[in-house]
Amino acid sequence: MDLERLWQTALGELEVSLSKANYTTWFKGSFLISIEDGKATLGIPNNYSKDWLRKKFHPQIVAALHKLTAGQVNEVEYVVATKSGLSAKPASSPLIHSPVEKPTTPVRRNSYTQQPPKLNARYTFEHFVVGESNRMAHAAALAVADAPGHAYNPFFVYGDVGLGKTHLIQAIAHAVLLKDPAKRIVYITCEEFTNQFIESLRSGKATEFKHLYRETDLLLIDDIQFIAGKEATQDEFFHTFNSLHQQNKQIIITSDRVPKAIPTLEARLSSRFEWGLIVDMNLPDVETRSAIIKARCDEKNFQLEDKIIAFIAQSIQSNIREIEGALNLLIAHCELTKIEPTEGVVTAVLAQFITSTPHKAVSIGKIIKMVAGFYNVGVDELLGIRRTKELVYPRQIVMHLLRTELNLSFPTIGREVGGKDHTTVMYACDKIEKEMKKNEVLQKELTTLKERLYSIPSPS
Ligand code: ADP
Ligand code: MG
Repeated sequence: MDLERLWQTALGELEVSLSKANYTTWFKGSFLISIEDGKATLGIPNNYSKDWLRKKFHPQIVAALHKLTAGQVNEVEYVVATKSGLSAKPASSPLIHSPVEKPTTPVRRNSYTQQPPKLNARYTFEHFVVGESNRMAHAAALAVADAPGHAYNPFFVYGDVGLGKTHLIQAIAHAVLLKDPAKRIVYITCEEFTNQFIESLRSGKATEFKHLYRETDLLLIDDIQFIAGKEATQDEFFHTFNSLHQQNKQIIITSDRVPKAIPTLEARLSSRFEWGLIVDMNLPDVETRSAIIKARCDEKNFQLEDKIIAFIAQSIQSNIREIEGALNLLIAHCELTKIEPTEGVVTAVLAQFITSTPHKAVSIGKIIKMVAGFYNVGVDELLGIRRTKELVYPRQIVMHLLRTELNLSFPTIGREVGGKDHTTVMYACDKIEKEMKKNEVLQKELTTLKERLYSIPSPS
């Protein structure tokens, strides 16, 4: 889909329904960044316009995009971004030419020419919350963004998964581009780098490949640990590294561990990685996690009480990505079922993420009693063999909950609900799962059940 054309058409639609003044003031410089999973992301050049558009014109914008994409877009998200801040290559800026190519031939459009870097529009310094765990890394990143190639080269960031490494290094790229849109920037994961390199050898385009990577102003290589064991790629990267370093071009690397701990990383590479600055990123403390959740809620225009934010921050201690996943799930759930995010709801929805949930308090007996009470049927009947509608439905709910909340196997569930065959259980679980996706009443019932399950002390 041509995003630019689509957005221009949408603007045409919007123009008709808005006053001229409104239109020119607020939509100036807006552009469509992406459409993914039904969600359109709009780039708006400043915070003020972003908030205004979101508050005042959101329904119209969604409607226009929904219509023009034949229903593909259901949601619109706004981020502060400028077009130049996103695309590294205005058409007029110099591209990299390999000697054999004439500048104007379409040959340049092979995969090794400089393209706008694939950056996540949200991974900016503005959206990065600073706390003790990342203060050092953040400060160093700012310094690198300020004087690429001169402050710390290479800049090596390491830490566990989901702690903001990719976000932080892309923030550097955004900042550099914002200052100078003509800067050539390549962001690539180590895996992609490896694949491209191998492909370039295969297709006889090794020269183009070398040129692309050795003539960029900023090279960001994400998750370098994947280079372990890949000798040819290490060799190629070694030369790329030297070439860039000699020209004072900035190299930025992330990894899940320090260079020395990457198995089979050649010593010559490992020692080069230590030339610049190595910083680590850790799990943010609970206050910082709360601040991140709060920031994400504001971004998404989702109201969440402080005490619930603190509750989530305390409950999910693995990493930020998990926290975001949980939050997205919660938001989707509340929006879909139109219920308020109370502590009970949050506990129920986030049960799968929350490690400290007292799962032990949830027992087979408790689930059965709870469901029987909820649907007003007797436990004996529920576990019996009669197959009336009034009994089959709650019975299937019991099986579903035993599966999702206690992770029991199908045969075990069958035994527990009065000696049913495991295929009956499989059928029931499958049916509820499918039904859940389209039936809001069922969604609400399950949420209520889980709320009760996790918040009421186990009846003895
Ligand atoms: P990594 O590359 O270390 O695995 P990411 O950079 O992909 O982690 O971060 C995972 C998610 O957490 C991203 O959506 C990112 O925006 C978010 N995130 C991580 N740290 C922060 C932070 N300090 N402030 C705001 N968001 C953060
Ligand atoms: Mg990453």
